[in-house]
Amino acid sequence: MTGKTYKVEEISGPKLDTLDRDRTIIVIPFGMLEFHGPHLPYGTDLFENEAITEKLIEIVSKEDPTIDIVLYPTVPAGVFGIENLSPSRFPTIGSFVIRPETMSALIVDMSANFARFGFRHIVIVSFHGAPEHCTAINQGADEAAKAYSIAVLPIMSYVFFPLFFGGEYIEKFNNRLKSKLSAEEKEALRRFIHAEAFETSAMLYLKPHLVDDSYKTLKPVVFDYDKMFEELKKLSDWEGYVGIPSRSRAEIGEAVISVVGEECADLLLRWYRGENLTEVRRYPEGLNV
Ligand SMILES: [Zn+2]
Repeated sequence: MTGKTYKVEEISGPKLDTLDRDRTIIVIPFGMLEFHGPHLPYGTDLFENEAITEKLIEIVSKEDPTIDIVLYPTVPAGVFGIENLSPSRFPTIGSFVIRPETMSALIVDMSANFARFGFRHIVIVSFHGAPEHCTAINQGADEAAKAYSIAVLPIMSYVFFPLFFGGEYIEKFNNRLKSKLSAEEKEALRRFIHAEAFETSAMLYLKPHLVDDSYKTLKPVVFDYDKMFEELKKLSDWEGYVGIPSRSRAEIGEAVISVVGEECADLLLRWYRGENLTEVRRYPEGLNV
């Protein structure tokens, strides 16, 4: 039997019911609508998340054709917008947010449906790195897993630590590129915080018509990670990005989406095959913010 991907909104109940519960993985993507500086749209995380999810599904289907995947429509919801790091700069407008408890409850309620239909493997994909957001997702996933005796994987929480800290993925990005990273581009990618070189490159690749040309001249906003929260609170003329957006190009965007998608696929398969992921550090647990 060869596995397939089904979009929930495109299949009937009887069709869903034919799927082998032990060989089906439910994928629920969440796309935050967040303020992303003067140059990127609200849907930046949502578009990145859709592209990463697509890559993840493509790889998993290829690696194990016996798996069926049921893909839920992207839920445009998330916790904590970047403006909260310096609220005085954003007196009237910012991100579209929901409360952490709403986020957790959404995950529990959505998981409940699939559990009720007999499905046992649920993956939550949400490419929005606010610690408050990831904590709400982790809590919802843990609560659903416990309540319904199913497995719920908040997959990005296992990818964010190596992605955000220490530049572990930089060489993986570089290996994909025909035109290799310059020292400045490597430094910009290491500064992976918000609406910076990673995200601007991703959007130049995915939705170039939605990227404002002003990114080319935006000044670097750079802090050491452990001082960032304090420093941002002091800024009075902050434009809502952190990092070096001017060092962006579409080819880098293609590479970063591929690498993150591959890391996710690797994690998903390890989890599906029963590996205990407790050894992998889960973001933001243990992070001092
Ligand atoms: Zn973002």
